[in-house]
Amino acid sequence: MTTKPAAAAARATVYGWPRQGPDRELKKAVEGYWKGRIDADGLRRTSAALRRDSWRQLADDGVHEVPTGGFSLYDHVLDTTVMVGAIPTRHRAAVDADALDGYFAMARGTQGAAPLEMTKWFDTNYHYLVPELGPDSVFTADSRQQVAELEQARALGHTPRPVLVGPLTYLLLAKPAPGVHPGFEPLTLLDRLLPVYARVLADLRAAGAPWVQLDEPALVQDRTPAELNAAARAYRELGGATDRPKLLVASYFGRLGEALPVLAKAPVDGLALDFTGAGAGNLADLASAGGLPGKRLVAGVVDGRNVWINDLGASLATLGTLLGLCDRVDVSASCSLLHVPLDAAAEHDIDPQAARWLAFARQKTREVVLLARGLAQGTDAIAAELAANRADLASRAGSALTRDPAVRARAAAVTEADARRSEPYARRTAAQRARLGLPLLPTTTIGSFPQTGELRTARADLRRGRIDEDAYEERIRDEIREVVSFQERAGLDVLVHGEPERNDMVQYFAERLTGCLATRHGWVQSYGTRYVRPPVLAGDVSRPEPMTVGWTTYAQSLTDRPVKGMLTGPVTMLAWSFVRDDQPLGETARQVALALRDEVGDLEAAGTAVIQVDEPALRETLPLRAADRAAYLAWATEAFRLTTGAVLPRTQIHTHMCYAEFGDIVQAIDDLDADVISLEAARSHMRVARELAAHGYPREAGPGVYDIHSPRVPDVAEAAALLRRGLGAIPAERLWVNPDCGLKTRGWAEARASLENLVAAAREVRADLTS
Ligand code: GLN
Ligand code: ZN
Repeated sequence: MTTKPAAAAARATVYGWPRQGPDRELKKAVEGYWKGRIDADGLRRTSAALRRDSWRQLADDGVHEVPTGGFSLYDHVLDTTVMVGAIPTRHRAAVDADALDGYFAMARGTQGAAPLEMTKWFDTNYHYLVPELGPDSVFTADSRQQVAELEQARALGHTPRPVLVGPLTYLLLAKPAPGVHPGFEPLTLLDRLLPVYARVLADLRAAGAPWVQLDEPALVQDRTPAELNAAARAYRELGGATDRPKLLVASYFGRLGEALPVLAKAPVDGLALDFTGAGAGNLADLASAGGLPGKRLVAGVVDGRNVWINDLGASLATLGTLLGLCDRVDVSASCSLLHVPLDAAAEHDIDPQAARWLAFARQKTREVVLLARGLAQGTDAIAAELAANRADLASRAGSALTRDPAVRARAAAVTEADARRSEPYARRTAAQRARLGLPLLPTTTIGSFPQTGELRTARADLRRGRIDEDAYEERIRDEIREVVSFQERAGLDVLVHGEPERNDMVQYFAERLTGCLATRHGWVQSYGTRYVRPPVLAGDVSRPEPMTVGWTTYAQSLTDRPVKGMLTGPVTMLAWSFVRDDQPLGETARQVALALRDEVGDLEAAGTAVIQVDEPALRETLPLRAADRAAYLAWATEAFRLTTGAVLPRTQIHTHMCYAEFGDIVQAIDDLDADVISLEAARSHMRVARELAAHGYPREAGPGVYDIHSPRVPDVAEAAALLRRGLGAIPAERLWVNPDCGLKTRGWAEARASLENLVAAAREVRADLTS
């Protein structure tokens, strides 16, 4: 395929960039500021230097318009809250006293004022701070930060394009402030917010911004007609102002659907659309809408959410089609590059053949630039790069790492029956009861015990060669002994080994499965100064040898009570990793499930009577559009059942999820066919128990009675009261007693006291029931 040089003006841009710096300088500076090691000026200098270096790199790589305003000391949604003056009342005084300290107070809380709530940014693993609004909210424009960044970029000789969270998305992500009626809809504040956005836009124009980008990812979700009308109104009003820069409305993380014609008709100057993954449908939608006459299209053809090289030929084909539909087509990544690590070239330890397939933010930027050049000058101008890209893609498709015939044959042979227990729950529970002999209201924990400083030190010592493998394992065994003996003394019924050997519940398993790569510098921001290094699921997955059996059987050898085996489920493994994009997610999930199935089988063979498979990510991976959910839930629940389906009826399968809102997946939870599920419930006063009951959930459940997200120790009366509430929904024969989640983030003192109280509460309620 050769395209004629038809789009001489095609340009390359990106919407946002990893903030942390090559060596996580931003994390160090912000945390240094919190600890008083550097002052506000020092923090400002580091921030300005990081921005300067990122822009320079982008410009050197060939990006024409550099994004500004997305750099953030903590979170860009919190920055938007500052920009529109929506400071919560409880933080007002702190913000007025010192803007920077007030900003961090909103993010992290203070002794007297809780922080803003944090939640996931759409279906990514980035967390934003949720704006709090109410009928009395007033907005005031504060464009200082945006203008300052713009001026910095201009002074450095760049063409900046400020990027703001759009007004619709801002309001749709907000929640009613504490004390405001929970039914309050922040979107009703749109008319009050728009003049503030208009003011900021005018300020940015006055400061020399030719274009401003307004991000509206909320428009790729299902939206009501009223919400779509609000979108139309918002952009009619912002677009209608005379004193404004050119407006680019950006969407990402999927297809715009019914919002596309709304934005296409709006008096704005350009749209940015995602043409990758769930956004692929935008192409056909755009064609049937007749393109975007008179508007600039920024085409997100390089996936901004994964770590794989682009199929440049396929992207050029998409861009060629778009050129037939729009007057001006520019090229970008599908979303901000915030969600990928900075530079694949920094990974020296990755198998060189797999390294060819990786593209982090820097590599993606170069792909975008190359595609823009191909579009502007014709494919002949980039022939050598295209050939190299084809060779890299071919090496990936043909590699033994991505294609293991044994794994593929096994996955292809999976039958419906493999993903089903041999007996229905009613018969299984009888066998399990006979085997386990547990009391009514059995007590257990979710798996992890406090990850102490000593454990982290032991792991660091092992990594640096200060201790050998044997010494490390001895330390882990010491910890397991401690955890088991505490649980026996406390009187828990089903024990755990405490997961001391796990740095992270996903990484631990990824390191032991084939097909998974670990990065050294592949940090991505999770929230604030917390960065994670997700594993890369690159190839076919299998389990060469047992991963947890040794630790579980060691723990079991120390006690007569049952010790629960503890695994991370297939959906969570995928959700918290970068997953290969060369086959459907469901296929990768099935491979992971089969590897875990082997582990479950080995645990069972070693005598483990209770096995828990955690799926805390089941709900957060739910597709943004309702229409895509059934297909997702079908493969997700199948993967869980495939993991657990082969065990004997007398082996008890537990699962665990930690969120209180799960009304929309209660059927899927039922479809897992686990014998016991533990859930977060303490803060919501056992609402999940009532929801399970309303659904007619037929198996056993442990709604949490101890909120592990707080250092508070619940007393016996409080835990017993929650338990009695749980009994109002779930009959005693099917009710378990456990905390909300694992204890790894807690200190030993609180964990100990809380679990003792939990056991005492169970005993008290049991006594009531039997008297
Ligand atoms: N078993 C894990 C633990 O106890 C579960 C963690 C989670 O749900 N996120 O830590
Ligand atoms: Zn949990």
